[in-house]
Amino acid sequence: MEKYLQELNEAQRAPVLHVDGPLMVIAGAGSGKTRVLTYRIAYLMSKGVDAFNILSLTFTNKAAREMKKRIADIVGNSEAKNLWMGTFHSIFAKILRFEADKLGYPSNFTIYDTQDSQRLINAIIKEMGLDKDVYKYKQVQSRISSYKNSLITVKAYFNNPDLVEADAMAKRPRMGDIYAAYVERCFKAGAMDFDDLLLKTNELLTRFPEVLAKYQERFRYILVDEYQDTNHSQYLIVRALSDKFQNICVVGDDAQSIYAFRGANINNIMNFQRDYDDVKVYRLEQNYRSTKNIVEAANSVIEKNKTRLDKVVWTANEEGGKIKVNRSITDAEEGRFVAGSIFETKMQHQLANNRFAVLYRTNSQSRAIEDALRKRDIPYRIYGGLSFYQRKEIKDVLSYLRLVINPKDEEALNRVINFPARGIGQTTLEKLTVAANHYKRSVFEVMEHLDKIDLKINAGTRRKLQDFVTMIKSFQITAQSADAFVLAEHVAKKTGILLEFKKDGTPEGIARMENVEELLNGIRDFVEGQQEIDDATGSIAEFLEDVALATDLDNDTSDDDRVALMTIHLAKGLEFPYVYIVGMEEDLFPSAMSMNTRSELEEERRLFYVALTRAEKQAYLTYTQSRYRWGKLIDAEPSRFIEEIDEKFLEYLTPPMDSSYRYKPMIDADIFGEVDKSKLRLNKPVSSTPPDKKGPSENQLRKLRKIKPDLGSPVGNGNAAPSDLSVGSRVAHSRFGNGQVIKLEGAGNDRKAEIKFDNGELKKLLLRFAKLDIV
Ligand code: ATP
Ligand code: MG
Repeated sequence: MEKYLQELNEAQRAPVLHVDGPLMVIAGAGSGKTRVLTYRIAYLMSKGVDAFNILSLTFTNKAAREMKKRIADIVGNSEAKNLWMGTFHSIFAKILRFEADKLGYPSNFTIYDTQDSQRLINAIIKEMGLDKDVYKYKQVQSRISSYKNSLITVKAYFNNPDLVEADAMAKRPRMGDIYAAYVERCFKAGAMDFDDLLLKTNELLTRFPEVLAKYQERFRYILVDEYQDTNHSQYLIVRALSDKFQNICVVGDDAQSIYAFRGANINNIMNFQRDYDDVKVYRLEQNYRSTKNIVEAANSVIEKNKTRLDKVVWTANEEGGKIKVNRSITDAEEGRFVAGSIFETKMQHQLANNRFAVLYRTNSQSRAIEDALRKRDIPYRIYGGLSFYQRKEIKDVLSYLRLVINPKDEEALNRVINFPARGIGQTTLEKLTVAANHYKRSVFEVMEHLDKIDLKINAGTRRKLQDFVTMIKSFQITAQSADAFVLAEHVAKKTGILLEFKKDGTPEGIARMENVEELLNGIRDFVEGQQEIDDATGSIAEFLEDVALATDLDNDTSDDDRVALMTIHLAKGLEFPYVYIVGMEEDLFPSAMSMNTRSELEEERRLFYVALTRAEKQAYLTYTQSRYRWGKLIDAEPSRFIEEIDEKFLEYLTPPMDSSYRYKPMIDADIFGEVDKSKLRLNKPVSSTPPDKKGPSENQLRKLRKIKPDLGSPVGNGNAAPSDLSVGSRVAHSRFGNGQVIKLEGAGNDRKAEIKFDNGELKKLLLRFAKLDIV
């Protein structure tokens, strides 16, 4: 037997050696499902299946990269390169680019991210004169998204009296009209949103039998990881593609189905046996990831769910420590506990930061944890939330690049037509949009043909619009010969974006400029990375596609030594030796929004099962007695999920909450229940910070840390040192002119001055960066 097959147990080997015909692997967490998928691909290739004929669909692109690497180790890199492997969205975006013309799209279509979609929907709601409190754009967007994932097109919507009536009952009778306008506007802009990538693939495969036949022939073997979380649209694609050869392998765990709120359909697992003939079902039972305590504790929780397939999960791993439960008074204290515990464990066992993960139910919980980790100087990375690529300044630069590739892209155009300011106002843009809607063309096309259209726009503005068109066209010429980095740098300079942030002496401006520089570095890395791959050129189009499809997990670089902070949803499929599940409180986890029905509660419980089973060695559960929610400090109760764990697997670091118990402040590193008196003095009394108080950006902090506190050294042009300044000083700034210091705050590198400039502007400037002279 080949060596790699020996790295599987017998139960795992069976599905790997199963070559033809449909199969399904249903098994609990950590039992090697993903490993089976990986090894099965290697095995198929060793049996002579061409890599080009294998399609495998994963939950994140990062998972795909890791699998590819492992397969390359077994079969060799040159073969592994040819595998089609990635998320549904990235694989089908690629196919749609080849086939776009059939659907009337340009092959360079833009991919709108959720933010773009929401902005557009917001604009449509406004244009229709609808009440924004009734038509909340985020809700409308998620509704449209769920229509699309259920394959309900605009036409199907209007043909379905139930849907129309349901929206009318919900006092949103114009829902269908918004949907129609949104679809039309996306089409005109040559843009697809995330859901379109699946919807349009379905359209392509149903409307064009020859296209379907081509891809059926191509993807003779199809594999899907995390099958329990596929939605209807994804299900139909997989069905269609595998219909001819029926070599379809799906792996999943019904107990880890956690995306129902986004349309995932657990029935896809349940119905698999019905959909194909002679399905072979394999079960894996041995968990290789976690200690006995963790595996058994997780089993004791998931047993409480009524809807589930019977499954056994056991492990031969060591017993391990009990799950540690910690209570604190506030979220700030919870953060300090987590940071202190990570710090101690790291020191005690000499561990890297990336051995630790902190998992939470909602993104906003990360702030308290971040603050505490920063105070301890523990590097961390946040996954999810507002990703780097969604920051304003980054989207601004990316929007210019998107316009270069697809000038019809309306959301990109709206963002940058007047940024940096070039005197093109909102009214002008509205006139252009009206004309574009009238002629069924994009705004850019209208701008290109201004001379032929009767629009009430004055000569000066016309010239500005023409200059803008000329600028974008000149970038397109540059793009023909330059790689992504050269182009992006050129664009950042020529548009004046970099200068705009640089001129601005405020801390925010500096942070923005640094972020743009970071983006350019990222593009340079991308170009260098791509040039090592045969069929990639490192073009800006490839980069933009990469960015649009990057789930936040994908920005990870594995050699990065940081504590991982993420929502439980994002942690699916991952593993870490030490896992902290924070915010274990009623109404937070389980979420208040998901306790109305048994099925919602069961989904929350599956989510908790996912969280717990990420841990290899040690799991911590923490909760607080009070927490800021919706701007108010409320009393919190421990989550029912803690109680649902069989008590023999738990160790309470603090006595469970009890009304007779009087709280004594905990100190940071008190993870073993012992209080070290010497530390008590170092720690200030606990206080909670309101959740909206944001610290400086990570980038700023990084920069600031590098610089030695050097109060005496000159700043600015060598004239004004922070120590020279006092309230009342007259100063000169290169851009804002003369002004007077009205307030000073902060110390060292953080020292800021609030200055009232003679032109009336009031600015807060970070003295380290501001070019100030005393006059
Ligand atoms: P999840 O349900 O969380 O996605 P999974 O079923 O996909 O989990 P894997 O991630 O494939 O499980 O495996 C869990 C861990 O156990 C991994 O670190 C994997 O390398 C290891 N593992 C799996 N099978 C074996 C084996 N036969 N021998 C040694 N280690 C194994
Ligand atoms: Mg897995």
